[in-house]
Amino acid sequence: MDIIINSLYSNKDIFLRELISNASDALDKIRFLTLTDKEALGEGDTAKLEIQIKLDKENKILSIRDRGVGMTKEDLIKNLGTIAKSGTSAFVEKMQTGGDLNLIGQFGVGFYSVYLVADYVEVVSKHNDDKQYVWESKADGSFAISEDTWNEPLGRGTEIKLHLRDEAKEYLEEGKLKDLVKKYSEFINFPIYLWATKE
Ligand code: ADP
Ligand code: MG
Repeated sequence: MDIIINSLYSNKDIFLRELISNASDALDKIRFLTLTDKEALGEGDTAKLEIQIKLDKENKILSIRDRGVGMTKEDLIKNLGTIAKSGTSAFVEKMQTGGDLNLIGQFGVGFYSVYLVADYVEVVSKHNDDKQYVWESKADGSFAISEDTWNEPLGRGTEIKLHLRDEAKEYLEEGKLKDLVKKYSEFINFPIYLWATKE
């Protein structure tokens, strides 16, 4: 994790590419499931296959939400919970021998790039087969999961809330985010909406 965060050549912007790419993957998955199970898509807002990015300037939170497949409690533990994922050691090894952090997505550990800009991350997720859960972790490698009884129900999908580091406050600027979204959405087949709350 330290190697990821402290990498000298790091281009912090890539965290957004990784999050948009994960959101898009999750939307592809629910769309695929819907081919054989029409009910899987749900109704109303839940059925809208889209990505929303919100800038909360007051609380210094950048969040990205999708209405994709979501994660069960087990998925959260398995997919986000363990730094011991197979790709981690391969990635760290590559970094130590002068690799390019920009390639993080290729090692199946792209999610961890959130810690380039955030020191605390909450992942709220709702999968059709489970209740809504919150996974939370600081950059220290440990995490906690609890049943979500306080956030707004997502219907289905995932919301990732990045509590930005002081050095990463620039990601609350609409202009900056707009440019980045434009850059990283080129091959994304779902609409991405961006909005900001006033300070
Ligand atoms: P990769 O995308 O290469 O598998 P990541 O580190 O980016 O690696 O993500 C790890 C895993 O976490 C994904 O494979 C997926 O199962 C899960 N995941 C991450 N973001 C989301 C999301 N928005 N919705 C559903 N699952 C997600
Ligand atoms: Mg990914």
